[in-house]
Amino acid sequence: MPLLELKNVHTYYGNIHALKGISLVVEEGEIVTLIGSNGAGKSTTLRTISGLLKPRQGEILFKGERIDHLPPHKIVEMGVIQAPEGRRIFPRLTVRENLEIGAFLRKDKAEIARDMERVFQLFPRLYERLNQRGGTLSGGEQQMLAIGRALMGRPRVLLLDEPSMGLAPVLVEQIFSIIGDINAQGTTILLVEQNALMALAIAHRGYVLQTGEIVLADTAHALRENKLVQHAYLGVG
Ligand code: ATP
Repeated sequence: MPLLELKNVHTYYGNIHALKGISLVVEEGEIVTLIGSNGAGKSTTLRTISGLLKPRQGEILFKGERIDHLPPHKIVEMGVIQAPEGRRIFPRLTVRENLEIGAFLRKDKAEIARDMERVFQLFPRLYERLNQRGGTLSGGEQQMLAIGRALMGRPRVLLLDEPSMGLAPVLVEQIFSIIGDINAQGTTILLVEQNALMALAIAHRGYVLQTGEIVLADTAHALRENKLVQHAYLGVG
């Protein structure tokens, strides 16, 4: 049974039909990427999984259980955790406080401390900035904090929305390499990205989304070799 599965999911904003029957699976241990241009519906897919938007049709299953009717906090409790887009950390709270909030559903103090250590190993920069307010961090540091905060919730599936957005190329490489490390340490990841080149370099499988529909699904390797993908998303040809 897949860890996460979407079956024919339709999501609307009022009359706008944003997701037109999305079906995808994420298996335990994978990095699956969802690539597509602006407005394809990538963020809408993540928001629908997180319960922030309710699908009008279709099913979302986590470990075989329907979650599409649950409120967002219940979905987080089950371990389906989205790292907010870069800048959505708490600007007035310190780095430490932001990370602690990520663990607010947990009571296991010793484990929380251990996970915070792990976040600092992944992002030494956050340790250096522990008592600095989130809002005064650089864009890249805020992105790290957003991912670190999600990790503090012990995700079974980590949903990442454009982790490379607004970052300098050297930081993009660093963030993707850390995402690979997080996965290697056992976290399943659904990664939404416009940067198809980087996403396909670390993912196991991928889906290509166009105006609310999945038009291609394959291994990351096959997608990298695919002519349409190369032309439309990798800037080749
Ligand atoms: P990007 O990479 O530019 O963020 P995306 O693939 O994440 O794009 P979505 O943000 O999911 O795309 O948007 C999918 C479609 O839904 C777009 O046509 C967008 O205009 C529309 N949409 C998104 N949010 C809203 C909203 N709050 N109200 C109305 N339409 C929306």
